[in-house]
Amino acid sequence: MSKKENVFVTQPFLPPLEEFVPYLEKIWESKWLTNGGPFHQELEAKLAEYLGVEHLALFSNGTIALISALQALRITGEVITTPFSFVATAHSLLWNNIKPVFADICPDTFNISPRSIEAAITPQTTAIMPVHCYGTPCEVEEIQRIADNYGLKVIYDAAHAFGVQHRGQSVLNFGDLSVLSFHATKVFNTFEGGAIICPDAKTKKRIDYLKNFGFSDEVTVVAPGINGKMNEVQAAFGLLQLKHVDQLISRRGEIDQRYRDGLNEVQGVSCLPLNVDFKFNYSYFPIRVGRDYALSRDGLYEALKKAGIFSRRYFYPLISDMPMYRGLSSAAASNLPVASLASQQVLCLPIYPDLTNDQVDAVIDLIKFAAVI
Ligand SMILES: *Cc1c(COP(=O)(O)O)cnc(C)c1O
Repeated sequence: MSKKENVFVTQPFLPPLEEFVPYLEKIWESKWLTNGGPFHQELEAKLAEYLGVEHLALFSNGTIALISALQALRITGEVITTPFSFVATAHSLLWNNIKPVFADICPDTFNISPRSIEAAITPQTTAIMPVHCYGTPCEVEEIQRIADNYGLKVIYDAAHAFGVQHRGQSVLNFGDLSVLSFHATKVFNTFEGGAIICPDAKTKKRIDYLKNFGFSDEVTVVAPGINGKMNEVQAAFGLLQLKHVDQLISRRGEIDQRYRDGLNEVQGVSCLPLNVDFKFNYSYFPIRVGRDYALSRDGLYEALKKAGIFSRRYFYPLISDMPMYRGLSSAAASNLPVASLASQQVLCLPIYPDLTNDQVDAVIDLIKFAAVI
């Protein structure tokens, strides 16, 4: 009997090693290892073109990019954000001495609800930081309308939204800034990495200073910048990854469809609706385990784990339940009923390009039959 391989929620795609060697040889030859080297410059240009955005500044990771994005716009006071995200979203606010104000999410998209945003605005509010959760675009037009009415900036945590389009254009073109993550677990990865997308060259210049200690030239420091630079090995890997990314997203799409077909008639399990107005990247496959399924969400999580299938409870616990946030008045569960329920019910199933159809079917079968074993 062959030993069954464990299945994890995600697994990074690694191109054949020999494809990467020529890049490394070039770096060894030039001895240019970081600080805006040729691969860095090439990746910025190629990514901007691929994504359909004007300007893009690469970073060493998404979290430093989020922190720098807030610095670039000099955001202070209070920022309205979602509790249903990875913890780095709110942490980037605390690192800037900004008070996070949590607003509830929509039940059908898991994205921050415009109505809750509007209700959370105070005289101290300076910006909104929504997340395109699981790569589903936020209600970008409604959020912009609120921002315009109240004079607020919008910084999107777009860590899940690589390549996602909203009615034919990149979702990264909405808001004042958008921030990507190229962490190993994301759809497009540079081992660690990230980027800020901005609409104009002036802002990009400022962001480039910020990620390099605030240097504007050899002897002038214009801001208390940080070291957020992406190095040449990361950038080279990004260029190679970019050659494969369309194929990777299309394979993810097949897996997404296979799950949808397989889980279609399972009582108590529902999938995120796919909106025809959007181009998705299938970065996650969240299901909602409802009260009419035979097991609780955690029960299903454990049953899958016993079978060597490691799903993830993204996002549990809510950011607002973590020790550094739970004292805020906006963190109360009564303020966040939809997010609180989602964090009890959502489970992200394995999805990554190397996942085989047989493995997907094994996950589906287990969900179908877990209830009766
Ligand atoms: C991955 C992620 C981040 C952090 O990105 P890093 O590159 O790991 O620092 C931030 N926000 C969200 C929503 C994420 O999923």
